[in-house]
Amino acid sequence: MTELSKLTIEDEAALERLNMASAGMVARTCAWSDINTGSWNIDGLKALSGVLADAFSELDGHVRLDEAPGFETIDASGKVEIIHTAPILRVSSRPSAPVQVVLTGHYDTVFPKGTFEGVKDLGDGRLNGPGLADMKGGLCVMLEALKAFEAGPFRDRLGYQIVITPDEEIGNHASAAALTEAAQSGAHVGMTYEPAMDTGAMSGGRKGSAVFDIVLHGKAAHAGRAKEEGRSAIEAAAELVVGLEALNWQRDGVTVNVGAIEGGSAVNIVPDLAVVRFGARAPDAEAAAWTISAVTRLFERATSRAGISGHLHGGFYRPPKPRNAAQKAIFDAVHATGRAIGLDLEFIDTGGVCEGNNIFAAGVPNVDTLGVRGGRIHSSEEFVVVDSFAERATLSALLLNRLADGRMDGPRIKALMEN
Ligand SMILES: [Zn+2]
Repeated sequence: MTELSKLTIEDEAALERLNMASAGMVARTCAWSDINTGSWNIDGLKALSGVLADAFSELDGHVRLDEAPGFETIDASGKVEIIHTAPILRVSSRPSAPVQVVLTGHYDTVFPKGTFEGVKDLGDGRLNGPGLADMKGGLCVMLEALKAFEAGPFRDRLGYQIVITPDEEIGNHASAAALTEAAQSGAHVGMTYEPAMDTGAMSGGRKGSAVFDIVLHGKAAHAGRAKEEGRSAIEAAAELVVGLEALNWQRDGVTVNVGAIEGGSAVNIVPDLAVVRFGARAPDAEAAAWTISAVTRLFERATSRAGISGHLHGGFYRPPKPRNAAQKAIFDAVHATGRAIGLDLEFIDTGGVCEGNNIFAAGVPNVDTLGVRGGRIHSSEEFVVVDSFAERATLSALLLNRLADGRMDGPRIKALMEN
């Protein structure tokens, strides 16, 4: 058994404290769930941001709410629109300690106000409610784990930056810069609090995710009197869409999905506008570069048609997070730590993406499913496993203890990113 899998006196103190805190964590998460924070419900997000700022003031750190910068979207008429969302919660603690961690999570959910509300006890050790697993429960676990760590003797050896975002479920476009900045202010390891599966399994490698909008302009004309004077943006879009869908599986692990087309109006007018919206996933940096050049080629072909012009927006907003040497080292350490509390943690590769992709792209190895156990997320059947609050908070507290006392070597793991 490695040192990581043994319980020290400090680990036992954290374990005991977090078992005691279990009911409090559940109650607090239910209260946070009761405040609707759908990604577009700015009032609800602002209300919860204040509640979270108060809660995170229980830590030995400096708490602030930063206004998030506006981000661009392309509207149905092909124009750029600037959207403003709620604040980003930041906590900074002991920035000159020898080991530094960046912790992240989000407080938005996928549920617009009025769609899915209220917590229900399913009666079998599970609760049903919006955002309980994804990821208000995770935020609570993060907070209690840090408090347990700070109650121990190693706090001066480890400092951290926390970033809690209002826009993860819509891509972190407003908070991406804050995530990068926090990761690059000296962090050795990243800890993100997306839910684990109800079985306890966590995420391993993650693909990268891209979103693109291609706007095509043609020339309107009366379809009966002067069809020959018109240039159809929809015809150009049709050829483009067929080309995009043909990219699927041309390269291992790369998928492309055209999700929406907008444009045109009456059937007697040659359409002068089409907006093609699509996503793409790629397993590593080379595959992402291949995807971008294939998309660019198809865009250039569409706009080389006579009378057709356009613009290409978007790209890989979350780069891939493959299992490199640093990721393997961190997964091994988390696995060995889990053994200390009787967990046999598995890491499963996924096409899904999260803030862990952003933190990895910023050069920091990380584990991103440290939140509660749960399932059916993004549906009204979302549930959380009640016992997992104490279990997962203890896992995090033990990881912090190991990073601080050197049993887990954060700087060495970080150095593995370079080769
Ligand atoms: Zn989430």
